[in-house]
Formats: sequence, C-alpha cells, structure tokens
Amino acid sequence: MDFQQILAELVATQTDPHTRARQWKSANQGTVIAHLLPDVPEEIIHASGALPLAVTGVDRGTSLAESHIPSFICSLLRNPLEMALRRELDFIDGMVIPYVCDSTRAFSQVWEANFPDLFNHTLWLPKKVSGDSAKQFLFSEFMRLKKRLEVFLGREITDQSLRHAIGVYNQNRRLLRRLFALRKKGRIPLPYADYLSVVKASMTMPREDHNTLLARLLEGLKEECRPCEKEESVRVFLLGSLGEPHSVLTLFDELGMDVVDDHFYDGTRCFLQDVDEAVDPMEGLVSRQLSKAPLSGFHYQDDRWRQYLLDRVRDGQIEGVVYFPLMYCDPMEFDYPLIKGLLGEMGIPVLFLETDFHSGSLGQVRTRLEAFAEMLREKKDESLPC
Ligand code: SF4
Repeated sequence: MDFQQILAELVATQTDPHTRARQWKSANQGTVIAHLLPDVPEEIIHASGALPLAVTGVDRGTSLAESHIPSFICSLLRNPLEMALRRELDFIDGMVIPYVCDSTRAFSQVWEANFPDLFNHTLWLPKKVSGDSAKQFLFSEFMRLKKRLEVFLGREITDQSLRHAIGVYNQNRRLLRRLFALRKKGRIPLPYADYLSVVKASMTMPREDHNTLLARLLEGLKEECRPCEKEESVRVFLLGSLGEPHSVLTLFDELGMDVVDDHFYDGTRCFLQDVDEAVDPMEGLVSRQLSKAPLSGFHYQDDRWRQYLLDRVRDGQIEGVVYFPLMYCDPMEFDYPLIKGLLGEMGIPVLFLETDFHSGSLGQVRTRLEAFAEMLREKKDESLPC
C-alpha cells in the first residue's frame, strides 16, 4: 500500500469509524471498551487486553436519542446514544464516561439505565486540577477503573502490561507530533480536515496498527516534503471540544485559512505530552493527565490558560483564533469571556463559531469565516513594512 492509500484509509475512518474495531473483535474474540472522550486513560484499557474505542458519532440527526435526553444536550453525548439505540454499537462490551460537566454526569445514568448489561463506568475527574488532593483523587480513580476492569475481564492488569501499553501510546504520540510539526512548518501538503481524521483514526483502531500506518504515511509524506506556497493564507488556531462537523473543517483550506493547531478532545491536545516511562506507570499516567492543556469545566488555580494560550500562539505564529464550542456546551460558553480577554491582551482576534455535528446549512458559517479571514489578512497587510 503506498502512502496515498494509507492516507485515504485513515481519512475514511471519519465517515466509517467502527469497522476496524468490529473486525478486531471478531478476529480476536476480544472485548471492546468504548469511551466518551476526553481524558479517559486508554492505556489502562489497552493493558487489560481490551480495545479502547473513542465514540463521537457521525454527522446526522439524533431523534431517537432525543426521546431519552433533552435536545439541548451537546451532540458529543446525543450522537453515541443515538448510535447505541440504533444498535450500531452492538459490538461494544462497555462504556467509560468521564465526568466533565453536568451533562456528562446525568448522561451516565441515562446510559446505564438503557444498557445495563454493559460494563459501565463513570470516571470521576478532579474538578480542581492542582495540588496533592487532585493527584490523590485521580490516582484512586484510575485504580478504581483498573480494578473494575480486572473483575469484569477476570484477569489482572500487571505493571508490565501497563508499561507496554504506555510504550505503544507514547510511540503513537511521538509519530503524531512529527506529523503535526511537519504541517505546522508548512512542509507537507496535508489539508487540516485530513490531518484531523488521521489523528482521530488513532482512537478507533488498535494503536499498534495506527503506529504502523502512521510511520509509513510519514515516510511517504517526507518524500513530498517541500515548502508549501501559502503566502496568502492566515494562520489560525481552533479552540473547541470537537472539530465537528467535518464539512466545516474543509472550509478553512478553501478560504485560505491555514489551521496550524487545535485544542480538541480528539485532536492535538491528545498527543502533546508523553507519559514518563521511568516512574511507576499509574503515577506516570496521573502526572501526564494533570499537566495536559486546560479544559473548560475544570478549575485551574495557576495561570494555566494564559500560559497555554501564550505558548500555542507563539509556537504556531497564530494570527487568529476560532472559538469552536459545540452547541449547548455551557462550560465552553462560560469560559469564552476569559479566553477572549486573554487572547485580546496578546492582540489575537477571535471568532466565536458555535457548531453542531449536524451541519445543516454551511452558507452562514462560510460567510462568517470569509469575513474573519479577510479581517485577518487586512490586519496582516497593515503590519507589513511599506
Ligand atoms: S464539556 Fe461541553 S462538549 Fe464536553 S460533554 Fe460537556 S457539554 Fe459536551
């Protein structure tokens, strides 16, 4: 398979995200443990011998789900419920739901009531993400997940299997960082929408398979490596929970906006830090989690948002930010004034673009993005010396 075929295969997982997991299950008589991003420690699931599978859904209506939960719950939760009620997730053996916001907390109960035969687990994440108490709480939560998986699967999760899983995931993160760096430097002609599909594919197939495909993809892309002509484009950062709908992402390239970075549950945020392989594996997982990029819905007593935004803006030479909350995401909407203010201090314009999985009409989104791109280009021209 040449690298173009590998790329096509990885990009295809955007519209067909579960075939690989189904195939893995029937070939291995294995156990598939789904999860609803973000920050579920997939390494613990991998170390149990099960396949971790991130479920986010595809772009379509959620009428069945809306007969069980209100329609004003974000589509990150409505979509998986819709798929499960349609029996499209009949191959999964369990679901891990992280406690991120009030919606996820209520959703866990609805899920458990509808699918009582699955391994259902709510992962309580510390809301105050600093200090020893957060560390101890997260450690005990990761241990609780480990123990419950051991009972469910009837086998021990050893330190050795955890270390192996961490090694596989760290390798994946290193490869993804190489892909990210090549794009950011403008060295490879890979549209952002395709890049994000490649990243997301890592969460829907065995990580070892993704590592193999990604290494070969990188080899092929390196052959194509050359400075890409992008003088007219403006460099933007997408800040949101999920990069959905996919049809909106394709607009950025079309409109001359070079998305060089993002902050999505299933995007760049997932691979910026490795787990330290020199320490106790569970402690390594906890430390990585607590040092990850900030998320809306959590409380940071340090200056984490400011430092994070400053680093991303400088590192990516960002000229504008598109704030990309999913519709009905209260935590992101509450955080918007804070983030807009911080970016304002850095002189970075922000566009608020609320989206939903179900794209509907793209016309209005296109018009707003066009206007934002135009404004960024004018700002850029004004800053150039005569
Ligand atoms: S934080 Fe926002 S996007 Fe994430 S689950 Fe809650 S409402 Fe949905």
